[in-house]
Amino acid sequence: MKTIDLVVPCYNEEAGLEHFVLETNKVIDSLPEYSFRYILVNDGSKDRTYLIMKKLAKTFNNIKYISFSRNFGKEAAMFAGLQHTTADYVVVMDADLQHPPQLFPQMIQAVEHEGYDCCATKRADREGESKFRGIFSKLFFKLSNRLTDVKMPYGAMDFRMMSRQMVDSILELSEVQRFSKGIFSWVGFNTKWIAYKTVDRQLGQTTWKFSSLFKYAIEGITSFSVAPLRFTAVMGFIIFVISLIYIIITLIQTLFLGITTPGYVTTLCAILFMGGITEMSIGILGEYIGKIYMEAKDRPIYITKFSNFEDEDNEEKDD
Ligand code: UDP
Ligand code: MG
Repeated sequence: MKTIDLVVPCYNEEAGLEHFVLETNKVIDSLPEYSFRYILVNDGSKDRTYLIMKKLAKTFNNIKYISFSRNFGKEAAMFAGLQHTTADYVVVMDADLQHPPQLFPQMIQAVEHEGYDCCATKRADREGESKFRGIFSKLFFKLSNRLTDVKMPYGAMDFRMMSRQMVDSILELSEVQRFSKGIFSWVGFNTKWIAYKTVDRQLGQTTWKFSSLFKYAIEGITSFSVAPLRFTAVMGFIIFVISLIYIIITLIQTLFLGITTPGYVTTLCAILFMGGITEMSIGILGEYIGKIYMEAKDRPIYITKFSNFEDEDNEEKDD
């Protein structure tokens, strides 16, 4: 019997976690020829998510959980989940039912019978999302596809089923600052994309703020490309050439026409423009140095507080 592990990052999901498991179980029950297992990762939730996880694990013996010592972010939670997988196929999905388990049969079809290593999903629409986020998202995919080597279709989601081999390759990328959408694409393998109509989050709330989405986008681009650095270099060169031409013109004017004092506007413009460009270049440089710094520290990607994996001896004792 083929096995399938479901990796589910959970942050403040007390409202919907049980509902998620019950709904997903319906789909699992309709696929008796596969053995499913949940790997729920509690990403330092501030609510009762962990208690609900434990309760669920008592009710259903195919539920495993890992609980972090604090909030490490969805990327870390996905990584932790993937590290604990052993199944033939691995699914990564959200706990809010925005990633419908009803797609499992289609995914299994792709990875088991059509020869794909991965069956990933993308949005067929952007319903249930603010216009603003939609525009920003489109811009991100455009920029990212142009600047980096990793190609992602517009609206690509993390929700996907992958082969064991692909998961093992993903785990070999041990960078601390993880950008999974990029990593999934970077490791290669054949991916089948299926589009589906997204649904609104039924229970609980999204934890993404605009600022975190912005950070996510910058992370996505800088993790897979040095194009911004090259951009500053090219910019510098262009400005250098323009300045050189201007210097020559001014020198000739001064030599042949004598010193003409007006130049207030030119001086001001030059200083401000150069200042702006320099600041921006330093900022971009800083972004990369920051990344090097964070990677150089080589800190663990997450810290586990509790878990019910047999191979770990940190099971909670006090109940
Ligand atoms: N999540 C997480 N850690 C975080 C934020 C979110 O593990 O710091 C989980 C969350 O529980 C959910 C998934 O990541 O299962 C997606 O989060 P959410 O639904 O809030 O994001 P959206 O669907 O709006 O992109
Ligand atoms: Mg969601």
